[in-house]
Amino acid sequence: MPPSGVFLSPPFHFYPVDPNLRRQPPRHRNILDGKLVHGRLLVKLRTLTQLIVGTGEYELSDDRFVRAIQREQGIPVIPGSTVRGVLRQYVELLSKSCVLFKDNGQGRDLPRSLSCKTSSDGGQASVCPACQLFGIVGKKITLSGLVSAGTFRPIGDAREEEVQIPQLYRPQHTHQDNNIYFRKVYCHGNPKYILDAIPKWIGRRSESFRAVSAQVEYAGYVDVENCTPEEVGLVVLALGAVPQYRFDIKMGYAKPAFFGSIRATVEEAYQYDPARGEKRPLPTDTLWTWTEQYLDLDPWHRERINEVCHLEQFDAAQQHLPQDRNQTTEYLGWDLKSGVYR
Ligand SMILES: [Zn+2]
Repeated sequence: MPPSGVFLSPPFHFYPVDPNLRRQPPRHRNILDGKLVHGRLLVKLRTLTQLIVGTGEYELSDDRFVRAIQREQGIPVIPGSTVRGVLRQYVELLSKSCVLFKDNGQGRDLPRSLSCKTSSDGGQASVCPACQLFGIVGKKITLSGLVSAGTFRPIGDAREEEVQIPQLYRPQHTHQDNNIYFRKVYCHGNPKYILDAIPKWIGRRSESFRAVSAQVEYAGYVDVENCTPEEVGLVVLALGAVPQYRFDIKMGYAKPAFFGSIRATVEEAYQYDPARGEKRPLPTDTLWTWTEQYLDLDPWHRERINEVCHLEQFDAAQQHLPQDRNQTTEYLGWDLKSGVYR
């Protein structure tokens, strides 16, 4: 029985956008406010399936050109901008935030009430939680972000492999239900079934990619500035890293083919005291308390995180196996005989 309002259509999950955004005046960004939180989260990311953070270019592999991945001095990395972008998506999912891109309707214009770019309340600008934290460039307002991320680098050996990936067309599939907007999340699964099926597909092109293998760990940091404790609680919640509300995130290319499943953990945290110029440890228990404070702000927050924890689980998704139905073999929305997904 799917949770209320969430529409399951593997390889996607559609979560309804709450039409009543939780807007607040934009916070100042230029000075560090002694009453707010400034600090650094040291984060570990572990790949659960192959990860492709591509460059759009090619690299040489055994005298052949394959699609390249992001590297620094030859070592695969995840740029901070990628981590920040993923974090924003999950913050949007877990808060009453605006719809940044109107590509989830079929050519419909986004209602003004769902966009921070064009909205202002009686001349006073106000922004949703995601725009407050990650910034916005709009007609009435431009804000820099309060959250940033550094480059994530592998811990130890970053095992790599070459994979054949089917050409993934931009899915037409969107979910509409009257005037409700939905956020699309790519569900977890096992890329093995897709990779095994590709050689049998007739007339579907595939391409070679470099990929970082499963079970590679990366370390990096996420910084917060001028955030309320509740906002920091939302950021760690959006990583899927709060033990009581753990879920797995998706990152990089080929997400509908079940690549890019990631488990994030917060290893350590520091808080800066701008008045004293000091940094001191921020216990993770304090972070989890701030998450509870965030969830206490609105019953909707709890309802949503419970849905996400229920659905966005890599381990549970491994229980799904290809099924024979009506002469096609189906796996989480894919027809394994033709290579077409919904
Ligand atoms: Zn917004």
